[in-house]
Amino acid sequence: MPRRVRHPAISEVLQALLAAPYVSELGQLLEGSPLGRPRKHPAWVPVAYGALGRHFRSYNRLDAELVGGLWTQLRQAVEGAGLPDPGPSPYTYPQHAYWRDLAVKDPERREALLDTFSTLAVAQARRSGLLLPGRKGSLTHPDPSRVIYGDGTVVRPIYRIMPDKDDAADSLAAKGRSGASEGTDTEAVPARERRQDTSAALFQRHDGPIHGNDFVVFFARGDDPGSRIVLGVDRVDAPGREADTAVRLVERIAPLTTGGVQAVVYDGALKGVHIDRVMRRCGLLVVNKVAAAARNDDEVVVKRRPLGTYSHRVGRRSCSHSLHIEDGSVIDMGLADDGTPLRLSTATRKQVKRVQRADGTYRFHLGVTIPCRRSNFTIWLSPHARNDADNLPEHLRLIPPADPDFKRIYGRRNDSESFNSQYKRTLLVDRAASVGWERQLFDVLAFAVLQNSLSAASRHADQPLLRRLETGHSRRSA
Ligand SMILES: [Zn+2]
Repeated sequence: MPRRVRHPAISEVLQALLAAPYVSELGQLLEGSPLGRPRKHPAWVPVAYGALGRHFRSYNRLDAELVGGLWTQLRQAVEGAGLPDPGPSPYTYPQHAYWRDLAVKDPERREALLDTFSTLAVAQARRSGLLLPGRKGSLTHPDPSRVIYGDGTVVRPIYRIMPDKDDAADSLAAKGRSGASEGTDTEAVPARERRQDTSAALFQRHDGPIHGNDFVVFFARGDDPGSRIVLGVDRVDAPGREADTAVRLVERIAPLTTGGVQAVVYDGALKGVHIDRVMRRCGLLVVNKVAAAARNDDEVVVKRRPLGTYSHRVGRRSCSHSLHIEDGSVIDMGLADDGTPLRLSTATRKQVKRVQRADGTYRFHLGVTIPCRRSNFTIWLSPHARNDADNLPEHLRLIPPADPDFKRIYGRRNDSESFNSQYKRTLLVDRAASVGWERQLFDVLAFAVLQNSLSAASRHADQPLLRRLETGHSRRSA
């Protein structure tokens, strides 16, 4: 009988948040603010408040819960957790708006928050048996527990571009004036700007253009439900730069694992130049699909380019093969009787090798076996670009889509889309909870804190706390 699917009760959420290290450690970074408004609450409170705001989907609702008894419940839970008592008066949105802005508007403090989050998350992953160096898999056959996968998600702003012509935005703004605002600190926004988010931009995603802010999130997970761990989050600073943000996140996360990661899974946003950078700088394989050369009606035309003529000795004679790369794989091409090109065979992957250079960068080598009726032979290829104009990394894959390992590893990516839709369900009407990208980044980070804390707690629970979230039902807890 399948285990019952359920949503965590608020008492479990409080316990999970206080037991995991995120709330206390990220809170420490908010200590000692340079600006002197006297702090009524300990520094861990803004982090816990942000996470609870995502649990309740609205800061307005969270405030009502806190005043209505949740604050007392939180103080009781804190007693056993070794954190400073938050005192008798509830912390509510106006205080949060102040402390959150201090935390995220200063670039150094923001980077420290994101860095510390990733450090804690990698440690959690390793406690769960993920990203462990030396144990499982190889560069040739990476183990799914040593794969990190990521995705970008565009969150639409609260206000649309032309609010004057937009009923939905008008009604949202009207709600805000009547006190039902979803955590937008309208006081701090001049009236002229109140109804637009100037940090939003038009992002071209595979599913079309979306106006908003684009956030990139990376994960690792085991096979069990509720085992997903968010490893890092960041914001794309301009349209067209999602891949650069993704590479920067990989560069933040991978060194923390000291060799625990073998492969990175991402979608087609990572082009050859990014794939080459991840291989060279981080020493990691990238597993992703090859962008189609063209789409004609329903037919996808796969990318193909010549690789060169390769010869091997058969007895005293030389045998030549005209090799190409098609959809990431090395193929052997010949000519049919009528002169049209013909695929003779697809090479099989033999081994992926990696060497580290004196300057700390890496170089990969791919060994593939070419079938030949006289005698099979193996060639070694460099997957790196020889110069800026070389598009080899755009074409050649260390684990191409046709390889049996591809499906096993690339399949992880579906889970990142599941995280994105879960995050969007914590937002009312599928729009950002705050105005401005820094605050929205804090909202995403706070959701990651909530998710990771629940994931850590569910390792010890009979029923995984995150299971309901992962199966995509939308029933909510009281
Ligand atoms: Zn041959």
